[in-house]
Amino acid sequence: MRCFNCHGFSLTSFCSACREELLEYSLGIRKLEGNFKVYYFYQYEQIKHLIHFKHKFQGYFVLNALAKLSFAKFKDFFNPSYEINAIALDDKTYKDYSHTAILTHHLKTKFIKPMYHTLQASSEIKYSGKNLQFRKSNKRLYKLLKYPKYPVILVDDIVTTGLSLLEAKEILEKNNIEVLFALVLANAKFDIM
Ligand SMILES: [Zn+2]
Repeated sequence: MRCFNCHGFSLTSFCSACREELLEYSLGIRKLEGNFKVYYFYQYEQIKHLIHFKHKFQGYFVLNALAKLSFAKFKDFFNPSYEINAIALDDKTYKDYSHTAILTHHLKTKFIKPMYHTLQASSEIKYSGKNLQFRKSNKRLYKLLKYPKYPVILVDDIVTTGLSLLEAKEILEKNNIEVLFALVLANAKFDIM
C-alpha cells in the first residue's frame, strides 16, 4: 500500500518520514467570541489533502492514523485528574463512520470520557463554500440528545469561522453544562474554505 500523505510505498497508513513530519506540531490556539478557546494541531493547508479523504471510504483509515498522532497525544498537553466529557460534534455517520467520533475516541483516558450521538445538527445545511452571512443566518440547530455529567470538551475536525462550535457551546450552556474549550484537528482561515 501507499502512504496517504506522500503516496510513497508504506506498509502503514503513513510512512515513517511522514509520521515524523505529522508529529511535529505545537498545539495552536484560536480565541473565539467570549474568549472561547479552540486548540488545534495543524493548519488546514498542511493537511487539507488528508482531510479531503473524509468523503471517501479511505477516510476512516486516514483519520484514525492522524488521530493517533494528534488527539491520542492530547494527554501530553492536558491531563486532568477530574472527570470530563468529550463530545463529538454532529457525529452522524457518513460512509459508515463519523470523522468527529473517530477523533473523540482517541481522547479517551481514565478521566476523559467520550460521548457520541450527543449533539446532532438538525439542519442538513452545508457551510462549505458559503459566506459568513449565509452561515450566520443558517444555523446548525443542534439538538442535545444526551446530558453530559461532567464539564465538556467539544470536538470537531476543522475550525473555520467558529460559528458551529459557538452554537454548540451555547446550547450546552443553556442546559447548565460547563464547556471548557474545543479541540479540532485543523485551523482554517475563513477565506480558503
Ligand atoms: Zn509518506
